[in-house]
Amino acid sequence: MGGELILIVEDNPKNLKLVRDILQFKGYRTLEACTAADGIAQALAELPDLVLMDVQLPDLNGIEALARLRAEPRTAAIPLVAVTALAMPADRERILAAGFDGYLVKPIAVREFPEQVRQYCERGRQGA
Ligand code: MN
Repeated sequence: MGGELILIVEDNPKNLKLVRDILQFKGYRTLEACTAADGIAQALAELPDLVLMDVQLPDLNGIEALARLRAEPRTAAIPLVAVTALAMPADRERILAAGFDGYLVKPIAVREFPEQVRQYCERGRQGA
């Protein structure tokens, strides 16, 4: 593992801490944002290897944030994975149709999560 830089966009402090702690334990470098606006700003400034994006955020929702990042040439190719409590099949369809590269349901599966992240980092943008 190459210590990839992962941006976590999540407004729930407990969820944010859990994800950050697991990733750091596994040797990843992390950035944290608790609003979509801050997440977008950090993505543009730091060009992370992967973005884990909560869908329900206090300002923009994660789908709007995704659209902003895809519209920006510097961040268009960064893989974005939705991390969401919206777990109905229709939610999943809507989120993947919006252009996310993947979809993880909260609460995250602590044991499987590192391998899921590793695969998303390795695969990069779907179809890119
Ligand atoms: Mn949220």
